[in-house]
Amino acid sequence: MSKNHYDYIICGGGASGLLLAYRMCKDPYFEKHSILLIEKDDKNINDRTWCFWESGKGDLEKMVHKTWNNAYFNADGFEMDFSLQPFQYKMIRSLDFYQSMKKKLTEFDQLTQIREKVTRIAENSVATEVKTYHGDLIFSSIFDPKKLYQQKRYPVLLQHFVGQVVETQNPCFDPDKIEFMNFNVPQKGNTRFMYVLPLSPNKALLEYTLFSAQLLERKEYVTAINDFLKTLPTGGYEVIEEEEGKIPMTCYRFDLINNSSLLHIGTAGGWTKPSTGYTFQRINEKSKELVDFLKKNKPLSHFGKRGRFWFYDLLFIDVLAKDNAHGADLFKRMFQKNSPETIFQFLDEKSSIVQEFQIMRSFNVRQFVKALWKRLF
Ligand SMILES: Cc1cc2nc3c(=O)[nH]c(=O)nc-3n(C[C@H](O)[C@H](O)[C@H](O)COP(=O)(O)OP(=O)(O)OC[C@H]3O[C@@H](n4cnc5c(N)ncnc54)[C@H](O)[C@@H]3O)c2cc1C
Repeated sequence: MSKNHYDYIICGGGASGLLLAYRMCKDPYFEKHSILLIEKDDKNINDRTWCFWESGKGDLEKMVHKTWNNAYFNADGFEMDFSLQPFQYKMIRSLDFYQSMKKKLTEFDQLTQIREKVTRIAENSVATEVKTYHGDLIFSSIFDPKKLYQQKRYPVLLQHFVGQVVETQNPCFDPDKIEFMNFNVPQKGNTRFMYVLPLSPNKALLEYTLFSAQLLERKEYVTAINDFLKTLPTGGYEVIEEEEGKIPMTCYRFDLINNSSLLHIGTAGGWTKPSTGYTFQRINEKSKELVDFLKKNKPLSHFGKRGRFWFYDLLFIDVLAKDNAHGADLFKRMFQKNSPETIFQFLDEKSSIVQEFQIMRSFNVRQFVKALWKRLF
């Protein structure tokens, strides 16, 4: 039976909630502390496929389902095949992650996991449909977009997509090469691209993806995937799995909804990279940082700082929100004038100022100066 008071309460047991719980449980510092993890779902379906790039073996390596060493980029008549070295592109299926995490977490006595729906989070308490729990510190990965859409200061785009795993009659994919961004699809006034993750010569996950403010009707994504497949010698295909997503791309100050005892984590905490929508690897890294931070006993509102990358993303999103058709051109300039290694380091926020200056110079400077001017004045 669950008790009423815990040292830490984690709301939401998805990517960030499970990783945070696991990292805390593994750290001897938290051995004598009580942790409650509240999740509303069983998490027994493969509801998403996470991909990210990483150099060398990472700490979630055992869960990795597929890796790739090469990639393809296409925008506005500029095509490029490239090696991802020193990185590899990696895929983790969410079901493997949930199952592996659940199994690992049962080993820890300090953790209680419950299947309940959170209805309210207040200072030091979390109410579910069943009862109210009290906690000294609360972490929430439950994303409530209300505040995000109530404000006007920071534009909100979405990385939205439908993904289909297809099996084709003929071999038509290169199993060691992803299509990272293929903008060679009608842009229709937005930033639209195809993202292809081959699993074998006959099988791939294709995602028709937009970086834009408005969602499409489901059939529009599906038609676009179908049109794309018509350009390949598939010999016919079958859809065997499907997923969809809408990930916020914004520089909204998520930190302002935190306080000394409540911290939003994962997508709900603004851990998504605004200019790309990539989140998973950032969750992996930030959950480690958070565990170290907790040992310092500082107010939760002090966790995480906005740096220069937040500012770059701010201008990028401003430019893309103002004219949503510019995405293909922005990414084309980036890939035409910089090495893939530098680009991935930049997107990882691990580049040097010199590399960043070089990347800035790739863009149409006037667009960015205008966006900067508007921000400043
Ligand atoms: C289909 C899809 C594919 C993606 N692919 C990638 C990718 O390739 N690479 C990448 O970097 N990012 C990707 N993302 C973005 C991001 O990595 C994921 O959304 C990731 O799961 C975010 O983790 P999270 O912990 O913030 O949210 P979630 O994993 O969504 O966890 C939130 C949890 O809270 C639970 N919850 C919600 N409401 C309540 C409630 N009231 N009470 C109790 N529990 C509740 C949910 O059931 C869920 O388990 C993808 C997202 C989607 C949707």
